[in-house]
Amino acid sequence: MKTVQATESPSSVTASLFPVSAVPSPITAGLLPATAGHLPVTSVLPPVTASEAKQSMDPTGSPLRFATHDDEQDISRAWALLEQLTDPEIPVVTLRELGILRDVRAGDAGLEVVITPTYSGCPAMGAIEDDVKALLQAHGLQGRVVTQLAPAWTTDWMTDAAKDKLRAYGIAPPHACASSAKGAANVVQFAARGAKAEVVNCPQCGSANTTETSHFGSTACKALYRCLACMEPFDYFKPY
Ligand SMILES: [Zn+2]
Repeated sequence: MKTVQATESPSSVTASLFPVSAVPSPITAGLLPATAGHLPVTSVLPPVTASEAKQSMDPTGSPLRFATHDDEQDISRAWALLEQLTDPEIPVVTLRELGILRDVRAGDAGLEVVITPTYSGCPAMGAIEDDVKALLQAHGLQGRVVTQLAPAWTTDWMTDAAKDKLRAYGIAPPHACASSAKGAANVVQFAARGAKAEVVNCPQCGSANTTETSHFGSTACKALYRCLACMEPFDYFKPY
């Protein structure tokens, strides 16, 4: 019986055990042209990097269109620009940090910027779409905005940096409890169910002695709270 010693030839052992590069990434589905089908792309995260896009090239010369070198350059340029875009309602956090900006990919007619609304019918989405288009256009990039509804946005997609910025801005960030109800992630919960049990700390003084004064604050995704310690009213970004 021959046992492979990892110390003999680590590189070949690794290669034979993990032929990962031979497995096409599911991400390549996002690069297929519209003619390949209109199936919703559910696995667009993390964004396709230049090297991943290269791996997706079909060596058999398939007629399917994949990202070209020019596409890759445009995509990374677009990422660099779009990562600076802030939310129209909360100008201290970027769309990327909020988890709204999902993907930038090569489409049939230029770039496709994939965004997922925080909730269906969010009035900010129109402004976000305009911002994205204007920014790309200003830098000579052709593209369009694709709104992707599935998987539904969840506050879990918010980065910790975004939550810190929200708090500093005076908005209590959402609790990370949305993932416990992942099975119902497609249902936006606007009901006040369970809201009373939540302890929302005041973003001003940190006190837990707060009370909800309105389940809908300045926008539908926020609730209005009042701190009973420092008496300041504040918005709470509701988790879902
Ligand atoms: Zn307070």
